[in-house]
Amino acid sequence: MAQQTDLFKNLIAHCKEYGFIFQSSEVYDGLSAVYDYGPYGVELKNNIKSYWWSSMVQMHDNIVGIDAAIFMHPKTWKASGHVDAFNDPLIDNKDSKKRYRADVLIEEQMEKIEAKIDKEIEKARKRFGDGFDEAMYRTTNPRVMGYVEAFEAIRTRLAAAMTNGDMAELKQIIEDLEIADPESGSRNWTDVRQFNLMFSTQLGNIAGEEGKLYLRPETAQGIFVNFLNVQKTTRQKIPFGIAQIGKAFRNEIVARQFIFRMREFEQMEMQFFIRPGDQKHWYDYWKQARMKWHLALGTPQSKLRFHDHDNLAHYADAAVDVQFEFPFGFKELEGIHSRTDFDLGNHQELSGKKLQYFDPELQESYVPYVVETSIGVDRMFLAMMSNALVEEEVPGGEGSRAVLKLHPALAPVKCAILPLKRNEERIVKVAQDIFHKLKLSFNVQYDDTGSIGKLYRRQDAIGTPFCVTVDFDSLEDNTVTLRDRDTLQQERVHISQLEGIIRERVDMKQLFV
Ligand code: ATP
Repeated sequence: MAQQTDLFKNLIAHCKEYGFIFQSSEVYDGLSAVYDYGPYGVELKNNIKSYWWSSMVQMHDNIVGIDAAIFMHPKTWKASGHVDAFNDPLIDNKDSKKRYRADVLIEEQMEKIEAKIDKEIEKARKRFGDGFDEAMYRTTNPRVMGYVEAFEAIRTRLAAAMTNGDMAELKQIIEDLEIADPESGSRNWTDVRQFNLMFSTQLGNIAGEEGKLYLRPETAQGIFVNFLNVQKTTRQKIPFGIAQIGKAFRNEIVARQFIFRMREFEQMEMQFFIRPGDQKHWYDYWKQARMKWHLALGTPQSKLRFHDHDNLAHYADAAVDVQFEFPFGFKELEGIHSRTDFDLGNHQELSGKKLQYFDPELQESYVPYVVETSIGVDRMFLAMMSNALVEEEVPGGEGSRAVLKLHPALAPVKCAILPLKRNEERIVKVAQDIFHKLKLSFNVQYDDTGSIGKLYRRQDAIGTPFCVTVDFDSLEDNTVTLRDRDTLQQERVHISQLEGIIRERVDMKQLFV
């Protein structure tokens, strides 16, 4: 655990040092849970968005994109359930004055029990060696069985309390488990209260409730209210999808873990409109499709898993998370939700406008059902950074290097062009010519600000898959040294070959085939 905390601290420091992520308003000591993306951060973020957008919109002739406004008519949030049901249960510690999410405190207690189970299993694995049967051990060892039973009992109570909105029961669980404030150790808690996560603001010159606007807490509603506009203008037939990337805002209570939980973040959501009754088929389809999308980036299967929801959100009849193993454990990266006709049905009722589709095959009109996929850009960014950052020894006794082994298609800079001698005009000229040619195709960098060794280290740290070094031989035979970030292999290639070699490795196309 201590090692994981170090890893996470390292990652945050790396993001700052190399211009990926800065704390918002840092000169004023920052704004909690709000972050700015720096020069390399914005490139990586754009590449993640571009991969998602292409995989949805470009790769499916029945998915189209939109870009809806952040502000929406206030009734939108009444219809969607966010005014009445978008609440987190919060609890204050009377001694430390710190505020927590009651469900998170309980989940953290469950994680501690899980860690105890894992520890017992690891001990037994070492003791029994190759013949160790984990499944058997879990169901026969009294100590492990005790932990599993305790874990399951809490899980069941938590799920019921969350589903029923039972704040008193949440407080009771915290008391029964003798959960203490993680900071002060105090058990002096207030009651649990509901806290709405939407930020509100006021519209121009209209005072009071009438002019109250919300910053959208999800992008999905911009898609639902535009459903018929899009369907009619694109003449799509069901099943079809609408995709959108955009900012969302939530007044999160637990604002820790860097960009994992932010108050202003970005979502990539796709709502897939289907015939009522087909939801099971499309739910399974999108589950598989989304897992494939993650795996194509080279993320190991062992770091990804599905996690079914114990307590369903107010709008869903089935929901699953794609969890990623972040440095602080397996947590939600993406949600896949079967939302039935909840949203369109409610918008139809509250607006008084028909939001129905005429199905030419069935010769009938209905409110479509929806299966959605919803992933946070920032969480995906964190997943990619934490998966990619490696500290390793460089062969040949050259010390260690921090290298970001990002998939080349996501890397912020695709190739760095480095002149061996910055004072040698002829070398500089060839290097700059290469830079100006390659920049037409890729994001490339020309750098002559240090020794080649230092420049390589810097490119490794920002994840650049290729470095090109121009030297005296280049002047004679038009060849350069091409260095591979991961294998560290250096090969001599002709300048005219560079573009083709780089394209083959960095093209997003490879992620789709
Ligand atoms: P959590 O349980 O972690 O609060 P959620 O279930 O509320 O997340 P959804 O409403 O399903 O999240 O939102 C879809 C996706 O948006 C999430 O899978 C996550 O990637 C992203 N997301 C949600 N809240 C935040 C946040 N505060 N900061 C960054 N990303 C977020």
